[in-house]
Amino acid sequence: MENCIFCKIIRGEIPSNKVFENDRVYAFRDINPQAPVHILVVPKKHCANILEGVELKDNVMVDIAEAIAEIVKAEGIDKTGFRVITNCGKDGAQSVEHLHFHILGGKQLTEQMA
Ligand code: 5GP
Ligand code: ZN
Repeated sequence: MENCIFCKIIRGEIPSNKVFENDRVYAFRDINPQAPVHILVVPKKHCANILEGVELKDNVMVDIAEAIAEIVKAEGIDKTGFRVITNCGKDGAQSVEHLHFHILGGKQLTEQMA
């Protein structure tokens, strides 16, 4: 998508702190981290959110899950634990309309999620 921020990051038009990339998934550090480890994992193929992502025909959710597993091991938080969040729509407080999964970790997260 021409004017999508995350598509621009994937294309290298906006700089990012990349932590993972393969032919279908890109991951980079959040510009406004909410935890010591705060990484965004996105499919390279644009879709708005999980409502569309689950319908992509190329098993993108499996690609995302595999990428997350690899990233948390590389970050050293696979044993201590972490949280994965995808915000969707207005009540979900989604601010960027390109499907993304937040990985949060590196500290004890609160039990409260909302
Ligand atoms: P959302 O609120 O849509 O779930 O999350 C969007 C996230 O993208 C936010 O945590 C925000 O800090 C992050 N973000 C927005 N613009 C940029 C950017 O240009 N670069 C990076 N690295 N993160 C961004
Ligand atoms: Zn996009």
